[in-house]
Amino acid sequence: MTTIKKNVDVLVLGGGAAGVCAAISAARSGLKVLLVESQGCLGGSRTATGVDTFYGFYTPKQQQRIVGGIPWELAQQLLNANAAFERRNTYGAGTGITYDVELLKVVYENAVLTAGAELLYHTYASLVHQSEGNITNVVLANKQGLTEVTAKIYVDTTGDGDIAARAGAPFEKCDANELQSLSTIFFLANIDVETARTISHAELSGKMKAANRSGDYVLPREEGSWHVTPHSGIIQANMVRVSGIDATDPYALTLAEVEGRKQTQEYVRFLKDCVPGFENGSLIGTSHYIGVRETRRITGEYQLTEEDVIAGRRFDDGIACCGAPIEDHRAGADTRWVYVQGDGYYHIPFRSLLPQGIDNLIVAGRCLSATHSAQASARNSAQCMAMGQAAGTAAALSIAHGKAIRQLPMILLLNKLRSQDVIL
Ligand SMILES: Cc1cc2nc3c(=O)[nH]c(=O)nc-3n(C[C@H](O)[C@H](O)[C@H](O)COP(=O)(O)OP(=O)(O)OC[C@H]3O[C@@H](n4cnc5c(N)ncnc54)[C@H](O)[C@@H]3O)c2cc1C
Repeated sequence: MTTIKKNVDVLVLGGGAAGVCAAISAARSGLKVLLVESQGCLGGSRTATGVDTFYGFYTPKQQQRIVGGIPWELAQQLLNANAAFERRNTYGAGTGITYDVELLKVVYENAVLTAGAELLYHTYASLVHQSEGNITNVVLANKQGLTEVTAKIYVDTTGDGDIAARAGAPFEKCDANELQSLSTIFFLANIDVETARTISHAELSGKMKAANRSGDYVLPREEGSWHVTPHSGIIQANMVRVSGIDATDPYALTLAEVEGRKQTQEYVRFLKDCVPGFENGSLIGTSHYIGVRETRRITGEYQLTEEDVIAGRRFDDGIACCGAPIEDHRAGADTRWVYVQGDGYYHIPFRSLLPQGIDNLIVAGRCLSATHSAQASARNSAQCMAMGQAAGTAAALSIAHGKAIRQLPMILLLNKLRSQDVIL
């Protein structure tokens, strides 16, 4: 088979929240950028898995907005189009921005293409070749066959750190039983929202416990939640819990998809039978693929820790702010919540995006260098987008100044980010 060859300045692998913002920021600097995504839409966990609320823009207690730049620009587009609304202090995570998932796909595409990046769907980044600490090319696989892409800088925004791992960078991954659980998100139509709202979150949880005790239902998670969407009578539910799965194992991931859909049917049956307002509900959609919260965490030049998160630690190379609590969806019926102290936010250091041992690679998003607990805070979507913007900007500066990413003077990167309305 002939292998097609292609050259770009920046190759962004994975078009989720982080990859989209990395591609936009690098392309806005005038570079030749290719954004590769295995699905047929942008957004990853933000769209294809049905998750429809940005958390992390605001600190939960102080309600201070701590993320600006490209993420805020994109959220504003949704709010201005009346396709999103702010939900105050929901379930302990602070104010969220709930949006129309279908419109976010279009907003992301417009922003990437207007910035001048090239977009390639239905394409999987497979082999990674490296020599003496530099990636030499990444091989893409799609219906056309294989394409070998050579870039000056590679950005790994696959969520799972696929590229860094295949390049030989060190990473951590919990045992399957300790990894955060997976969730199939589902949407129901024909809900009497006013009636459903009379049941508090605690009461709903009580009904789930009672349903399990009755032996008539099997509901693995007893404190899942639902919320309204921008569409009348349609709600989104985050209730399913599939534990003990390492999502980098495709066989385990397949079992998780099957189990997630099975649980969805059970939760829908429970809601219709037991919860006022849901009697006439119809299941109108589940995630295109099951939501994965945690797999590989790359070992970077710095590993963000639970202590950093709780203390609200600031770093000289902080490229994004995060006030999201640690929200650890461990196995079992509940979720562990721990809040950031002090003024309610900490910094994500640039070094947490730099994999050890590979010079022309930067990671962004949920595969950043962090402990399990710290990742359970930093993985929020506003922060993943902010990390993406920082990664794309760093790639552009590195090329413009002819310096390796690690050698970039921090003042240069931080000033550039501030000029892009990034809050530091
Ligand atoms: C069930 C669930 C509920 C959540 N709820 C919220 C919430 O309410 N609010 C909030 O702020 N955050 C929430 N999060 C967290 C947040 O959505 C994610 O952590 C964040 O969006 C991750 O973004 P990312 O870009 O790092 O990764 P991902 O969203 O995982 O994106 C990675 C992208 O890369 C693509 N890809 C992967 N491998 C390859 C490859 N080899 N080649 C090509 N493409 C590839 C994938 O298809 C995907 O599009 C939730 C997460 C989950 C799973």
